[in-house]
Amino acid sequence: MTTLLSRPETHYDVIVAGGGAGGVGAALGAASSGARVLLIEKYGFLGGAATSSNVLAYCGFFQQGPEPVKAVGGGADLVLNELRALGLNCDPFRSPTTLNWIILLEPEAVKLALDRVLRANGVDVLLHSRVAATTRTADRIEAVTLAAMDGRRRVIGEAFVDATGDANLALVAGLPCRTGSDMGHLQAVTGPIRVGGRDKSVPIDRSAIIAAFEEYNKTGAYPAARPDGGIYTEVPRTGDMWWMMYDCALSDLSSESFTKAEQSARAAAHDYVGVLRRHVPGFENAYLLQTGPQIGIRESRHPPARYELTKEDLLTGRLRADGVARAAWPIEDHTVPGNPTYQAIGGAGYADIPLDCLRAKGLDNLYYAGRTIGADAVAYASVRVMGTAFASGEAAGRAAALQSGSAGGAGQADSGGAGVFWGVKTSV
Ligand SMILES: Cc1cc2nc3c(=O)[nH]c(=O)nc-3n(C[C@H](O)[C@H](O)[C@H](O)COP(=O)(O)OP(=O)(O)OC[C@H]3O[C@@H](n4cnc5c(N)ncnc54)[C@H](O)[C@@H]3O)c2cc1C
Repeated sequence: MTTLLSRPETHYDVIVAGGGAGGVGAALGAASSGARVLLIEKYGFLGGAATSSNVLAYCGFFQQGPEPVKAVGGGADLVLNELRALGLNCDPFRSPTTLNWIILLEPEAVKLALDRVLRANGVDVLLHSRVAATTRTADRIEAVTLAAMDGRRRVIGEAFVDATGDANLALVAGLPCRTGSDMGHLQAVTGPIRVGGRDKSVPIDRSAIIAAFEEYNKTGAYPAARPDGGIYTEVPRTGDMWWMMYDCALSDLSSESFTKAEQSARAAAHDYVGVLRRHVPGFENAYLLQTGPQIGIRESRHPPARYELTKEDLLTGRLRADGVARAAWPIEDHTVPGNPTYQAIGGAGYADIPLDCLRAKGLDNLYYAGRTIGADAVAYASVRVMGTAFASGEAAGRAAALQSGSAGGAGQADSGGAGVFWGVKTSV
């Protein structure tokens, strides 16, 4: 018989749905403000796209330019320190493909570092648990129901953070969400993979990859949309190749469309590594080490926020009194599969994200973090990256803690009282 609410209800100040960069940032922000925090994650590990989709670089920690100027600090620094303790370098690395500053990751280190940093900061974590429903009044969420390994479980909270990337908490709370851009167009999905067995004494020859795929694309079952050999680098501590080559358009958010995308990306991964093995020097013994547990989703659902960051905000580097985090990553648009475009952030090289981007329109105690924050279709292509997600997450967690009354009884979070939030600005 199905177990319904098999455990007694529990009660937290702040409940965070989703354990990616946004959710971890939110949990750390809320906990450091004195809140009792529960983080809920549907997979058996934390990290979000970094660990579930082979997205093996943190972007957004630094501004563009010849030198890496830091844009995000706070709880994210705790994560980087934990990664360093596990032997990861974490120094800014300038991508030879885009010239942007990134931090290269190794997913097993990320999983362990996040377990440790949340435990050390007193956050309760439930893995293998999916937020499946809410109980709410007209303007507040009262509790979430989890589809957990031992059945359904109800957890009561004072404030909530939707850090699910796909706005799954807002969706089940009944908020009307936008799919993709105003035109309903979604940025391309990509299947990043890890390739093992390469002869590391042979430098990777991009021109050989390009030539091999010109041939493959004539008759191959999964023509590669990227004409330039894709984005690749070496995974730290392992020497594996991290390779983003397969992009495809997603027409809608149905399970059928995701099934097709997953299956195509998987089959393409096998084909593509075969192409490397047959045609690219140094890859004679290469093998497909891993596709992600899931395909990389750049864009899905946007829940309603009280303010949407705009393209103009970013292009002018707009600073604001109610700014709570910095957006420093260029606008990286993947509207056309295989053809990313970049636009630089203006002003001082970053723009402020105001608190209202993190506040749900229609529910008083729901906040957004990471991919779910309010942004127009263009600005979204910047703020979605993981460094920025840590920062928006931390701000959302702190705001949620204030609202829950656990942060020294500070009470209702309100962007009108911007000074309060300036004091907790998570950027450096
Ligand atoms: C192919 C690709 C390449 C990219 N490259 C980079 C890059 O190099 N660097 C970079 O910084 N960013 C990159 N990005 C963007 C970045 O990965 C995401 O935008 C970022 O991970 C967003 O962080 P998040 O925490 O909001 O969401 P996510 O990382 O998606 O985390 C959301 C978490 O919520 C969980 N979840 C979802 N629904 C539920 C539920 N109902 N209950 C419980 N848990 C739930 C998920 O399992 C997941 O762990 C890339 C994205 C893609 C797709």
